[in-house]
Amino acid sequence: MSRRIEPLITEEQIKARVKELGKQISDDYRGKDLLLIGILKGSIPFLCSLMWEIDNEKLAMDFMDVSSYGSETESSGDVKILKDIDASIKGKNVLIVEDIVDTGRTMNKLLDMLKTREPASLKICTLLDKPSRRVCDVKVDYIGFEIENKFVAGFGLDDDQYMRQLKYVGEVIF
Ligand code: 5GP
Repeated sequence: MSRRIEPLITEEQIKARVKELGKQISDDYRGKDLLLIGILKGSIPFLCSLMWEIDNEKLAMDFMDVSSYGSETESSGDVKILKDIDASIKGKNVLIVEDIVDTGRTMNKLLDMLKTREPASLKICTLLDKPSRRVCDVKVDYIGFEIENKFVAGFGLDDDQYMRQLKYVGEVIF
């Protein structure tokens, strides 16, 4: 049976919220360097829109790809780096940009790994947060939208690798 997508967060809502987050991040990192680390592939549209809203002359970006889901619907916490960042983060202000924090297992592991590389600071910015699903106690510093326990796609998030290009976020109805 085919699936359909029911709109949940509109393009306009995302634009407005990203603008707010960009302003907040600009204020918080004023006078400091800032390295955005985008987690491939889901964070790409969010990272692109966000960077245009951040006012910082020392803004840089890098990318990481990690394996997250252990099964089809649940991450295992056994996180592997599929692609690492290119440069050292020692002494840098790092902001991880993620599409969604669900159980928090992926982010928990990622934080542990990156902390050992001695950044000056390490924070998390996610487009979506599903707090009701949390298993690991991860402090998320910037959240676009909190959502209920629904499987969503669009604005970078995939449904079996498709639908990432949607300009809105929708619930996948199976
Ligand atoms: P966590 O380790 O927090 O459980 O899982 C985080 C990862 O699970 C995200 O980076 C994302 O790849 C995936 N994920 C969790 N919930 C959803 C969802 O509703 N839709 C999509 N497309 N991916 C999700």
